[in-house]
Amino acid sequence: MRAMSEPTPHPLRDQLPAILAQIETEAQALWGQGKVASYIPALAEVNPRQFGMAVALTDGSAHSVGHAQVPFSLQSITKLFTFVLALKALGDDLWKRVGREPSGAAFNSIVQLETENGIPRNPFINAGALVITDVLTSRYAHLDYALLGALRRLADEPNLHWNARVAKSERDTAHRNMAMAYFMKSHGNFVNPPELVLDNYCCQCATEMSCAQLAQATMFLANDGRDLRPDGQADEQFLSPDEARRVNALMLTCGAYDAAGDFAYRIGLPIKTGVGGGMVAIAPGVGTIAVWAPELDAKGNSVLGAFALERLVQLTGLSHTTF
Ligand code: GLU
Repeated sequence: MRAMSEPTPHPLRDQLPAILAQIETEAQALWGQGKVASYIPALAEVNPRQFGMAVALTDGSAHSVGHAQVPFSLQSITKLFTFVLALKALGDDLWKRVGREPSGAAFNSIVQLETENGIPRNPFINAGALVITDVLTSRYAHLDYALLGALRRLADEPNLHWNARVAKSERDTAHRNMAMAYFMKSHGNFVNPPELVLDNYCCQCATEMSCAQLAQATMFLANDGRDLRPDGQADEQFLSPDEARRVNALMLTCGAYDAAGDFAYRIGLPIKTGVGGGMVAIAPGVGTIAVWAPELDAKGNSVLGAFALERLVQLTGLSHTTF
């Protein structure tokens, strides 16, 4: 049963429009400092000079600036959702197949797999995400529909889809991810045929959402695992409070590839980033922040996105340590 009382307005609610406008203006100074991802050819076609930011508060209010309604390629941000689905499905047994330590290595590094017997460091690097997709491939006959179904429900958006052109572009060039899948299979840590899992993985990564939709879709992580509808009314208990806390911990320590430590220092919020230039950050108990700007730094994180999140915490005082 939904509680129908009006949520209490958050004190940030009135300040956010001016803060977001200020961040958008300041961020423009960083255009040209990064490069759009090109190792997936279709991603290189995106106009680099775009910037969108959306904040959804647990009081039901939504705030945005710039290109916040433009869908972009989620890429590794989907690893957050597939990890959550796998955690719901397997519980603690999931940790037999994947670790929960930061890798300190590039998102697509193969090196640690060699010395660590085919067990990836965490679910957010490519190797770990491939194991997670393998878990879900065993569980769902049509993983693409299962994932889209969950995302549509969480985002309250029935029209979400994955971009077939981007998926094919990644699949045609996925040699490194395929190598990792085979390597893990040789260690007994891969159940399904790597080709099938890669098909699913490339569709998953090609899912598109806008910042506004992404902020809404991750609200359950800011709200003790309980989804919040756009009006701020509580909906499904998507994860237990304990699981939500653990997902946030993993985002804080592993969500930004080998820049996770730097991001924790600069921003201090659980984050997941993707090479499409998107980032989502969770302020537990307060709300979620999604930002998108396609130009990436050398580690694959959005230059303007990182700046925007850093400015937001500076201007609002948000930090995981304050909750
Ligand atoms: N689909 C991308 C890959 O596997 C995701 C990488 C990312 O966003 O970090 O390379």
